[in-house]
Amino acid sequence: MSRLVVLEFEDNDVAEGFVKLLNSGGFEFTTQVAAIAGAHAEVVKVIAKPTQFCTCNVEYSVKNFGKSRRYGWTVHIKCKKPTEEWSKTHNISQAYDLLPEMRKTHDTDSGNG
Ligand SMILES: [Zn+2]
Repeated sequence: MSRLVVLEFEDNDVAEGFVKLLNSGGFEFTTQVAAIAGAHAEVVKVIAKPTQFCTCNVEYSVKNFGKSRRYGWTVHIKCKKPTEEWSKTHNISQAYDLLPEMRKTHDTDSGNG
């Protein structure tokens, strides 16, 4: 499993420059990316992205598939995995946002919650 992280930038030019820098992998890449993200971006959503998929070859229907409790993925009820096709489409954006839970855990860890 991996994570999909959505960042929000107030400034479109900074956002586009950030994406270009991420895709270039250029010199001092890590430092520049961290500086831009730290100064201009806010994490607004974190989604668990599946890396293992249903290979059961069953009909995609309400009878066979349902929403998972933990991540909000649409999964095959028997194997508990989404189809690879589901994961590749925009449907992944319908998965649950893990950010509120992560913030709660962070607050508890730091003694603020
Ligand atoms: Zn399956």
